[in-house]
Amino acid sequence: MDHSNRNLAFHPKSDAASPAPEDATGSAPAERNDATMEILEVLRRGERFLVCSHARPDGDAVGSMLAVGMLLEQMGKRADLVTAERIPKIHRGLPGAEGIRTAERVDGACDAVILLECDGLERTKLQGLEQYFLINIDHHATGRKFGNLNWIDRSVASVGEMVYRLVKAAGAQVTPEMATCLYTTVLTDTGGFCYGGTQASTFALARELVLAGADPMRIAQTVYFSTPATKLLLLGAALGNLKSEGRLAWLWVTRPEMERAGAAEEDCEGIVNFALCVSGVEAAVFLYELPERRIQVSLRSKGRVNVAAIAERLGGGGHESAAGCTMEGPLERALEEIMGHLRPGVALLAAEAG
Ligand code: 5GP
Ligand code: MN
Repeated sequence: MDHSNRNLAFHPKSDAASPAPEDATGSAPAERNDATMEILEVLRRGERFLVCSHARPDGDAVGSMLAVGMLLEQMGKRADLVTAERIPKIHRGLPGAEGIRTAERVDGACDAVILLECDGLERTKLQGLEQYFLINIDHHATGRKFGNLNWIDRSVASVGEMVYRLVKAAGAQVTPEMATCLYTTVLTDTGGFCYGGTQASTFALARELVLAGADPMRIAQTVYFSTPATKLLLLGAALGNLKSEGRLAWLWVTRPEMERAGAAEEDCEGIVNFALCVSGVEAAVFLYELPERRIQVSLRSKGRVNVAAIAERLGGGGHESAAGCTMEGPLERALEEIMGHLRPGVALLAAEAG
């Protein structure tokens, strides 16, 4: 196995703090366990990098990958951007998105892999990553130090915010194209500045990105007003299956319903919010059938139930208010199992309310 990074002096499994210049987000690097300097050192010494993210890539995954690709390009490096699954249609218009390659396996010489948004290698669904020096950049509650260099910051609303800090620390330019990609990460991962984790620094970053050339209206229109008709048909089917019980609400779509709507898996994104938005509901679930009797599960909370902990118990992960996992079918059984985990959580809330 050729470790083309062997000439680099690394500190394996490290996430040591190192000073970084303050940026628009007003972060205090030491507090945030900022590993930007160590990461930049690896980038400066190398020539060629792989940039990867999770399967079913979302706005944060795609925007962060593209921005890292642009940073590496400015540094005179070669970057290959790879995901196991195609990026969703709504993000294909992002600058450079056509350059993201889809593959099952990665190989070839590379100085390091920059893994964005993944709480484990299995999240990528890519084969062959183990052979490389891994730089793990993540913000999930379920983030783990599985890389050779780990930078996990649970306080930021998007991994894009961490990439922005890396770009500033590198002294690189935030071009309008990069600003567009990074603004997309912030907008999508905060659900339009709605979710928990949206804080003053999120708006400070958004402001910087708009000043750097991101067009908030155009990006919002791409993300929220470019819905394919197939997704609306699917939503109709899902809403027909909406159920609630006290502070819990859930909905689902079956494979035949997806086929009837002509919908793709990416059309399932965001449907869970229609269960969460029910008045009085504290936690919501959306399920859809995958091929081979697997079930994809989205969990959401208004902030009082930790759904990351539940997803983790079921083999998945995510954030305290937004998490997911894949389960064995049939759908009814998966739903019952999830309810078994959620009911005690909301019962506690009821007890607190007296
Ligand atoms: P979504 O419900 O939108 O697919 O995902 C919500 C959050 O949970 C995202 O942060 C996503 O990365 C995470 N997530 C979703 N599915 C999985 C999974 O199967 N494994 C892990 N580790 N995280 C997941
Ligand atoms: Mn994210």
